[in-house]
Amino acid sequence: MESFLNGRVRVLTGDITRQETDAIVNAANSSLLGGGGVDGAIHRAGGARILEECRDIRRTCFPGGLPTGEAVITSGGLLPARFVIHTVGPIYGHHGGREPELLANCYKSALALASRNNLASIAFPSISTGAFSYPLEEAAAVSSQAIADFLKDESSISEVRLLFFSQDDLNTFLKNHRFDD
Ligand code: ADP
Repeated sequence: MESFLNGRVRVLTGDITRQETDAIVNAANSSLLGGGGVDGAIHRAGGARILEECRDIRRTCFPGGLPTGEAVITSGGLLPARFVIHTVGPIYGHHGGREPELLANCYKSALALASRNNLASIAFPSISTGAFSYPLEEAAAVSSQAIADFLKDESSISEVRLLFFSQDDLNTFLKNHRFDD
């Protein structure tokens, strides 16, 4: 398994819903009411409770939907992870050039929420690189830079896992990341 930043970041293939980290991150859409890809898999495996909590958050805090780059937290329902952190990635080509900043915000918002909740481990899928069409090469550079920037000033998170669905995707990440070590 490849690791970076003195072992604090691990990169691997697998299914995000099977991770036994304190939190897993959902590549949600702004409705917070479920979708395909990672979102569908998390709600299928996690059961109805996660969706109920998402509905409550939507009604009470984000009636217009969760803005791109922001993050909210629910319980993990039936998942091995204790919590799910839901974030909305940018749709590639829909944000007038702000896509890298918005994608970086997703990683930083999710990590900040984990830190605020005293969570030590978190697993990310490759946000925006499925239905939202963000090229994996570019997403690899942006996500690794955002994670490195965040972890530099933070010590309570001891493990960040980056999950890729296929070995090809993982190899693309390994060729394009910006971790120093
Ligand atoms: P987005 O809408 O943000 O693009 P998607 O869920 O469509 O999110 O896809 C994001 C990435 O997650 C894609 O690279 C996809 O192949 C991958 N993926 C889909 N399902 C899973 C899963 N269960 N575990 C890990 N990665 C997944």
